[in-house]
Amino acid sequence: MHTENLHKEIEKLQSQMEQALMQLIRIPAIAPENGGEGESKKAEKLIEILNAAGLDKIERCDAKDERVPSKKRPNIIARYAGETNKETLWIITHLDVVPSGDDSLWTIAKPFQPIIKDEKIYGRGSEDNTQSMVSSIFAIKALKNIGIKPRRTVALCFVADEEQGSTYGIQHLIKQEPFKKEDLIIVPDGGNAVGSFVEIAEKSTLWFRVRTVGKQTHASRPGDGLNAHRVGMEYALAIDKTLHENYAAKDEHFEPPESTFEPTKKDKNVDAVNIVPGEDVNYFDCRILPQYSVEEILSKIKGLAQEHQEKTGANISIELVQKTVAPKSTDVNAKIVLMLKEAIKSVRRVEPKVGGIGGGTCAAFFRRINIPAVVWSTVDEMAHQPNEYAKIANLVDDAKIFASLAISP
Ligand SMILES: [Zn+2]
Repeated sequence: MHTENLHKEIEKLQSQMEQALMQLIRIPAIAPENGGEGESKKAEKLIEILNAAGLDKIERCDAKDERVPSKKRPNIIARYAGETNKETLWIITHLDVVPSGDDSLWTIAKPFQPIIKDEKIYGRGSEDNTQSMVSSIFAIKALKNIGIKPRRTVALCFVADEEQGSTYGIQHLIKQEPFKKEDLIIVPDGGNAVGSFVEIAEKSTLWFRVRTVGKQTHASRPGDGLNAHRVGMEYALAIDKTLHENYAAKDEHFEPPESTFEPTKKDKNVDAVNIVPGEDVNYFDCRILPQYSVEEILSKIKGLAQEHQEKTGANISIELVQKTVAPKSTDVNAKIVLMLKEAIKSVRRVEPKVGGIGGGTCAAFFRRINIPAVVWSTVDEMAHQPNEYAKIANLVDDAKIFASLAISP
């Protein structure tokens, strides 16, 4: 069997993988929304690494963006031909990173000056998403080095703009590139620390602001005003109770298994204890199982607002902060799910768990067009945190999984 040779070959590439990861971290690829220049410079380095790895069939599918110096957001595809083109294995990672945040919290390494410490590589973007990017490249390099032609063509795909909604990234690419229903799509941009979690579904997200307007007055004479704070609280509790009662289904694929409806933020109101607030603003964060209609839930929320307005005389308005409707889940028996479970068992020696989480990766855009897609990688969930790191062992072992997906029957 060539599995053993393949694994040995990948292990031999470890120091090259470390070097590639550090080179990529050194080039910040921050979105213009966050004051960055985009991903072009990082993409140039990436292409050097791809060429060095022998991946020379490189296509560009850049999106125009006047806001960045290069005027474009890079999307890159590097293919390695397999025995068949009927199904292509796509490994999709993103080039962009989030800003470093408060630099004083980076106590181990500077965000864009990576270091190796305790078998980990520290730096912004190390885990999210450069670890998987490098693993995917070296999985292919190892196959090439020992002369294994993959069972199916492998397309490594590197996209822009994931952290800001993917308009210039995967959404742009999906418009240009004819992805097929038979294609096998893996987005290694989430997972757990042992590499057992295969994400196939996500919840819808609904964030909204509740603004209640009454009439401000002195607290000793509340009858002269209308306490917006009291109405706001009563209304918030009514939403909380109604949504929990009406949308209580559990789906054990999800963690947690039920929809969540949480009153969260509250804006400051009056400055003194003896003032009855004339305005009250609070917020909800709801994560909704895909079986429920977000529109229906919203109209329930608005109906309740109407009732409370009529009862109290206050004015209640609902403003959307974020609304993302989850696509239909990927089938638990889709080929990519089954192949990945097999690979996890044989390489990682852990029992795979298939399920859903909060959501928000490139996979959602494929599910939306009815192409099965999974999210999987082995990560300590350091994304977006100070002192972000990637474990070198994960860099190597995830490459073994990608290589086995390329060659498995
Ligand atoms: Zn990511």
